[in-house]
Amino acid sequence: MNYLFPPAPPAAVPIVDSEKRFPVHRIYCVGQNYGDHVKEMGGDPKQNPPVFFSKPANAIVINNENVRYPSATENLHHEVELVVALGGGGSAIPTAQALQRVYGYAVGIDFTRRDLQAEAKKKGKPWDVAKGFDRSAPVSAIRPILDNEHPTTGRIALSINGEIRQQADLQDMIWSVAEIIAELSRFYQLAPGDLIFTGTPAGVGAVMDGDRLQAEIEGVGSIEFNIGHG
Ligand code: MN
Repeated sequence: MNYLFPPAPPAAVPIVDSEKRFPVHRIYCVGQNYGDHVKEMGGDPKQNPPVFFSKPANAIVINNENVRYPSATENLHHEVELVVALGGGGSAIPTAQALQRVYGYAVGIDFTRRDLQAEAKKKGKPWDVAKGFDRSAPVSAIRPILDNEHPTTGRIALSINGEIRQQADLQDMIWSVAEIIAELSRFYQLAPGDLIFTGTPAGVGAVMDGDRLQAEIEGVGSIEFNIGHG
């Protein structure tokens, strides 16, 4: 191919115990997938279907690199989430077959300019500038699925400067991973390389310049980095 200028290298995520990297195709995100978080944001978990939005593939931050405090916000929020990495794709995928598409899992943070999101919600505007900004998606190495053992329970937590801010269990998710994949595939042709951020539990809050963030999911992985000098 004769490109006008060299194309950007593909975004890619390390894989646990492997020299290979997982090339990222798209990043999909689920809003409002834990009852306690839906309530803290003023919603009713039983009435609201999941909200889907996306981030650009190159929003990922890997290898515990620090994240510079982003521009144009005074209320950057952390959202710790289980991240699904797809090794297969398709559209209109039945729920019963959805987990066959999963390659592995990681822990990630869906950074959010909460002030811009609140303004967008109020005015019925899109969430792009609140969610899809540069370096808004730190993610751990991907742990491949072995023996078809998908994490359906386990502690998910985030702490700032050693103090726990978010703590829940994966079994508190409203929509399961299989249901999310099936529902997403009604709207999009899913593909190998897609990452899905599956929503955050309660306890979201502001991050300050200089903070040290640590996030983990039992049996999946952990990440740890500073805000600033990214
Ligand atoms: Mn989120």
